[in-house]
Amino acid sequence: MANEQQIIKPKIGIYGLTGCAGDQLVIIHTEDEILNLFNSVDIKSFVMASSNPEEGELDVAFVEGSVSTEEELHHLKDIRKRAKILVAMGNCALCGGPQAMYTGDGTFDTRVKQVYGDVDFLTKPLEGAPVDAYVEVDYYVPGCPVDAKQLFAAIARLIHGSSPEPYPHPVCHECKLNENKCLLLDKKFCLGPVTAGGCNSACPNHGLPCVGCWGPNPDGNFKEHFELLQSFGMTKEDIVRRIRNFGGHKILEYIKDL
Ligand code: SF4
Ligand code: SF4
Repeated sequence: MANEQQIIKPKIGIYGLTGCAGDQLVIIHTEDEILNLFNSVDIKSFVMASSNPEEGELDVAFVEGSVSTEEELHHLKDIRKRAKILVAMGNCALCGGPQAMYTGDGTFDTRVKQVYGDVDFLTKPLEGAPVDAYVEVDYYVPGCPVDAKQLFAAIARLIHGSSPEPYPHPVCHECKLNENKCLLLDKKFCLGPVTAGGCNSACPNHGLPCVGCWGPNPDGNFKEHFELLQSFGMTKEDIVRRIRNFGGHKILEYIKDL
């Protein structure tokens, strides 16, 4: 008699809050790896791939998007309760994204009214905020959207019981490896030194300044970089406005003393 052994696959959930769903699309569009993923894990919920979610216990939950409504907040808390490991995936989940650009500045109610007028919302709007503003996050996979190779490497490590390893250097590191001329030499607004790397310096490779879409580099010297950008003739307010575009709410903890 054949020695049949049932393979128990890790249970995975992939969720989207407020955002463009680009990170989920990265998964769907990665034809080379997606069949391996479906063979290796038991996907319980993935709105891009199935309209029939099972909302039980999970080994790993991947959450994309910022928390922007009360309904999303309840959903996120429920996911956190059911998941052994929660991974924030992409800029909006990590930093709040552009929708969190003005979070905390005291103008939220006015802005909501300007855009929506006096409507009855089905769910109360909240100021955009990263996932870890509300629940504990175990791991982060940055990107806007995430890089498919890095995301699948993170998934592979997680389902084998290891920790994902984020790219440890800022964008400038990859930019130098790609032998680009530094845009700061031409006094261009590049956020490479204070932005988490891993995108292979996608923008400077094409002569475009980094706008920080992978979120802050935790080891970045924000003070020095602000001073350098100010020496180019930019005001502090302008720098903060631009850096908050993708740094969202999260960037505040890095620039609070500036
Ligand atoms: S162009 Fe930008 S990313 Fe490249 S080295 Fe200069 S500051 Fe860094
Ligand atoms: S904005 Fe910066 S972090 Fe985002 S893709 Fe371009 S170089 Fe990379």
